[in-house]
Amino acid sequence: MNIELVTIGTELLLGFTIDTNAAHISRALASVGVRVVRRTTVGDGEAEIRSSVSDALERTGFVITTGGLGPTRDDITKKVLAEIFGLPLDLDEQYLEALRRRFEGMGRGPMPPSNRCQAEMPRGATVLNNQWGTAPGLWLEGKPGIAILLPGVPHEMKMLLEYEVIPRIEGRGKREEGRAKLIRSLTLRTTGIGESALAEKVGEVEERIAPVTLAYLPSVEGVDLRLTAWGADAEGAAQVLERAAGELRPAIAPYWYGDDESDLAAVLLDELRREGRKLAVAESCTGGMLGERITAVPGSSAVFVGGVIAYSDDAKAAELGVAEPLIREHGSVSEPVVQAMVEGVTRKFGVAAGIAITGIAGPDGGTAEKPVGTVWLAAVDGDQIRTVGRRFFGGRQEVRARSVQAGLDLLRRLGAS
Ligand code: ATP
Ligand code: MG
Repeated sequence: MNIELVTIGTELLLGFTIDTNAAHISRALASVGVRVVRRTTVGDGEAEIRSSVSDALERTGFVITTGGLGPTRDDITKKVLAEIFGLPLDLDEQYLEALRRRFEGMGRGPMPPSNRCQAEMPRGATVLNNQWGTAPGLWLEGKPGIAILLPGVPHEMKMLLEYEVIPRIEGRGKREEGRAKLIRSLTLRTTGIGESALAEKVGEVEERIAPVTLAYLPSVEGVDLRLTAWGADAEGAAQVLERAAGELRPAIAPYWYGDDESDLAAVLLDELRREGRKLAVAESCTGGMLGERITAVPGSSAVFVGGVIAYSDDAKAAELGVAEPLIREHGSVSEPVVQAMVEGVTRKFGVAAGIAITGIAGPDGGTAEKPVGTVWLAAVDGDQIRTVGRRFFGGRQEVRARSVQAGLDLLRRLGAS
């Protein structure tokens, strides 16, 4: 099954909003065997919406749009699509009533008149109930083909796609079974190794697991290895994938830390929780980003006790007890200093596990000996301590994000060893 996407919104063209909807829909559809064959982005103008959707329907016969379903003047997707399908707009009294109750329920007074148009539906359309916002999605079917209209708000779009759209597409797929090929994919997440070094580790495993295909997806968090299998049925494809993943994981350990949406901070916290260890962090160049990553994980309070942002040399000495001669002799970005930082912070908080980071994030402050991107990391787990010096590439934010990931990974691996 092939489909085209049209994402609608002038803010997308201006670059103020990044088109995350398109990427999400492509990924979500691929997992049920639907291939997105083309993506178009247009502004909120009537003519551009009309021509892009008409063209997509003519080419592919199946289109999903996002955006422009709201109550404001620039939200005209529904009107334009109804015209393309030759459907009049009828007022859906029931929907209007539900909308009114919703507004009253929010305690912000009566529904503004402009929201009334949200209760107008193209005749015969399937209304995709939006429990997460006010604009419902719509499923139109007619001579031009099939068009699914989703709201632009990413959360609402995702929910509607998952609960209202994909089940309906899968239902159609079942009816067309035999013709449809399903795609399943699984991602093995790695960190601490570059793309080409990882490819070397994967080596001949790749031939053994064919026809499963591999894609290397690098980011500041590491390199994700995406496995894709094609098959006639979902269970068959899932089994093929699991077998391939089973062959790959030993080849890429110890860099592999989880599958699919796994977050390294969450993986680490789980391990520490199982071991009954508490964690504290000492941060210099990351200025709190490490603490942010950790506390973004629900339930982190069971493990994480706190941290110190020791940015200046004085703060490193006063708050973490780093000896001043150590800083004078080796500089604040050095192995002895990062080691003293992690020892200081675990002592201060009375915990068994700790991470410390000190580095030169740039763009200034680099020297020939210690160029921008030089970062020292340390981890403590019980009576084990490990330090590592790294050199990261990229701009200031990238160096900092990579440092956080490397710090988390250093402790994860120390615990695993
Ligand atoms: P609303 O009822 O809020 O008006 P809508 O369907 O009209 O919903 P838009 O007005 O187009 O949607 O966009 C709503 C919000 O969603 C905006 O903040 C916009 O930046 C964001 N958004 C729209 N399209 C996308 C997209 N393709 N990717 C990511 N964000 C998007
Ligand atoms: Mg809008």
